[in-house]
This record gives sequence, C-alpha cells and structure tokens, in this order.
Amino acid sequence: SMAGDVAGESEKIHVAIRLRPLNDKEKAKNDVSDWECISSNTLIFKSSMPDRSMLPAAFTFDRVFGPDSGTKQVYEEAAKEVALSVVTGVNASIFAYGQTSSGKTYTMSGVTKYALADIFDYIYKNQEREFVLKFSAIEIYNEAVRDLLSSDPSPLRLLDDPERGTVVDKLIEEPIEDWNHLQELFSICEAQRHIGETALNEFSSRSHQILRLTVESCARDNLGAENLSTLTASLNFIDLAGSERASQTWSTGTRLKEGSHINRSLLTLGTVIRKLSKGRNGHIPYRESKLTRILQNSLGGNAKTAIICTMSPARCHAEQSRNTLGFASCAK
Ligand code: ADP
Ligand code: MG
Repeated sequence: SMAGDVAGESEKIHVAIRLRPLNDKEKAKNDVSDWECISSNTLIFKSSMPDRSMLPAAFTFDRVFGPDSGTKQVYEEAAKEVALSVVTGVNASIFAYGQTSSGKTYTMSGVTKYALADIFDYIYKNQEREFVLKFSAIEIYNEAVRDLLSSDPSPLRLLDDPERGTVVDKLIEEPIEDWNHLQELFSICEAQRHIGETALNEFSSRSHQILRLTVESCARDNLGAENLSTLTASLNFIDLAGSERASQTWSTGTRLKEGSHINRSLLTLGTVIRKLSKGRNGHIPYRESKLTRILQNSLGGNAKTAIICTMSPARCHAEQSRNTLGFASCAK
C-alpha cells in the first residue's frame, strides 16, 4: 500500500461494467453494438458517431464483461470478494447501476443467489463458529421506504439509533432457518414488488430495492458468554432505479435542475460515491436521501463496495451508455 495510506482510510470502490447482448427489439430495428471489450478491463467505443469527440476511445475499470460473459463469471470476478467479507464482520454493498432494461435485475438476482450460496457454503465449512443469519428487504419509491417482507404497504420511518446508526423502524428482520426458507423469503419479496408494478407501470424503473443479509457469528466455545469475538455485519444487494432518473453528464459534473423526474436517492448516491472515491475526508451527504441514510454504515469507511454498471450495447442507447460510463468513471 502507498506511503500516504492511513488507518481508517476508505476502501476503494470496485467498479465493473457489464455489456449485455443486443436484444430482439434492438436487433429488429437493425441496431448495432458500438462497444467492444478488448481486454478484461478495457472497453472501447468503436463506432463513428456525430458527437464522438465527447468520448474518450477507451474506458478502463477493474473489470469489464462483454455479452458472452455469464452472471456466474460476473459474480466471481466482480462481487464475490466483497460479498464474502460479511462473514468476517465487514459491512458490504453490491450495486447494480444502469438505465432501465440494461440488465440490472438480471445481474443482481443472479449475483445475490451465487453470493448467498457461497455464504451458506462458508458457514457449513466453518463449524467452529455459530452463525445467525437474518434477512430483510426494502423498497424505496419516491423517498418512501417500504418493507418487502410485509403485506402492509405503509411507509416506514428512519430512526437514528445511537449504537446502530440509521435504522428502519419496524422493519421485519427474519431469522433464516435454511436455504429453502431463504427461497420463500425471495418469493415474498417478488410478490410484493409485483403488486407495485401493476399499480404503476414504471414502478420498477423508479424504485430501489435493497436486500440485506445480516450475519452474526461467535466462536462456539464462547457460546452464551459475553465476549469480544462476536462479529456482526450486513451485506446489501441493491438493484437501483433506472439511471435515466438521474441523467446528467457525470464526467463534466453538470449540476442538475431539480424536477419531478429526478430521483433524489439516486442523485445523492452518485454524489456520495463520487466523494468517497476521491478519498477526501470532507462532508459526505449521506443524510440527504433515504437510500444513502440506510446504507451509510455499508458505504465508505471500512465497508467494501462493488458497483456493477450494466449497459445496452445498442447505438440507440449511446447517450445513456455514455452517462453510465461517466458515473462509473467517477466511482472508480
Ligand atoms: P433492468 O433491471 O436494468 O431494467 P433487466 O434485468 O430487467 O433490466 O433486463 C432487461 C431484459 O434483458 C430482461 O429480459 C433480461 O432477461 C435481459 N437481459 C439483461 N441482461 C442480460 C444478459 N447479460 N444476457 C441475456 N439477457 C439479458
Ligand atoms: Mg429491473
């Protein structure tokens, strides 16, 4: 590590890009891919476009995945290390960022399942410790927080707990009995999300979903005793609202005009991540949105963060893809 590193300095944010294949709709319009992954960490813009002067030709991140990469590979190479830190008592967050239909949900649902399988496997192989897992699920829509494990759609309040930081009041934290139980909890979340979707068509593109696994463990020979070897941490899987809800030129830092189509949580997240990635100790505006308040303990400080930015390869989405790469560049 560098000479300037000091204890407590922020962990670096791991940034990956995932380019999905052209879909049938794009193919039907004879659209073409403008992008190519030329190595494991470099993506190039290969087509000529009128405004190409605005783009550098090559973009480098921790990892880039082309249309042939499966979700398992994306998980292994962009999220696994961050996910597994939760069993050692380190808070972590894994985000999917990108425009609507770029593959956020497709990517996050796979990543979540692979991560949980690895965590279950780790626990099975580490019988010398006793683990307690809890699961909770939140949706944020228009700055209203809702419990996806509850059939009650009333918004939940955020409270400041002197020891735990921001907590969601009355949120269900379900102790996980086994793998099947976890699958049942996923089904409940899915069903709750669908209720929202039928009520409002664009719901999923405007809402954020956070699935949270809390892992508590202590050495078995210390069971029952008040001891210092208890580890507790949370792992958050965040499927963000479509990034078109915060469209702005990240690369030039253009200030946004406030408007009803703007998503406060997404915008604040962008600001928080940009400030964290600069590594300065200045004011980080966690408290300006529900999403960043809820994630405060799992974002920055010693917490581990991975962001998977999903992109459509299609020329018709070039503008949004450029925004996504701008965000990704600010985060790295
Ligand atoms: P988002 O959540 O960003 O709006 P989705 O994850 O719902 O986007 O993806 C949109 C569509 O594209 C879905 O039908 C999904 O199955 C498909 N898709 C997304 N990413 C991929 C991929 N990498 N490979 C194959 N199909 C994909
Ligand atoms: Mg989605």
